[in-house]
Amino acid sequence: MVKKVVTIDGPAGAGKSTVAKTLARRLGYSLLDTGAIYRSVALVANQQAVPWDDAARLAEVARDLAIEFKFVGDLNSTFVAGEDVSSAIRTPEISQGASQVSAHGPVRAALLDLQRRLGSAGGVVVEGRDTGTVVFPDAEAKFFLSATDEERARRRVEELRLAGKPVDYDVTLAEIRERDHRDSSRDVAPMKAAEDAVVIDSSTMSIDEVVDAMVDAMAARRG
Ligand code: C5P
Repeated sequence: MVKKVVTIDGPAGAGKSTVAKTLARRLGYSLLDTGAIYRSVALVANQQAVPWDDAARLAEVARDLAIEFKFVGDLNSTFVAGEDVSSAIRTPEISQGASQVSAHGPVRAALLDLQRRLGSAGGVVVEGRDTGTVVFPDAEAKFFLSATDEERARRRVEELRLAGKPVDYDVTLAEIRERDHRDSSRDVAPMKAAEDAVVIDSSTMSIDEVVDAMVDAMAARRG
């Protein structure tokens, strides 16, 4: 069988990253975290003192981005210019920055080819906001993973607590809502489920239940 692309889109904290990793392992696929690409643009912009509203200079940062991923064991690490930026791109500040830089059309255009190139070998699970609608419209299977705002905030607080970076629940909930609003209301490639996506609400599901539902949906579609 030819290995193809599986897309998982959805808002922050819905469990995309963990689900994508688990599904990739099950299918024997690789992993492409497109959010890490936008986060890396925000990080490099910060380092170069490029403001998050300067679309032209941000597009240059995006075009020059030397990004690589290494998916080893349970870790999907992100490298920019050879440096491991995996934890530097996960701060609340960079989350908001990524959401701001990603709203600019020239930035998205600059990253479109890169994402397609990184997924071109096929056999890849891709996660993001527009991967089923814009980046890989011909994907073999598309999923839109969501959960209630409160559950997503709870998960994000827990994730950051375990990473030794405790944050306040109410602040996190407000940030998640702000990011959702910006991501779904922007003019270019807004976050939304593709028409042919399977929508999964993970609020009361475990990771394994979500992945089982995805594998079943893929088998049903093939059959
Ligand atoms: O998924 P993650 O939270 O890492 O994404 C960070 C930000 O990058 C999102 O809030 C969104 O603004 C942007 N993004 C995007 N399109 C994608 C992936 C991420 O606009 N395909």
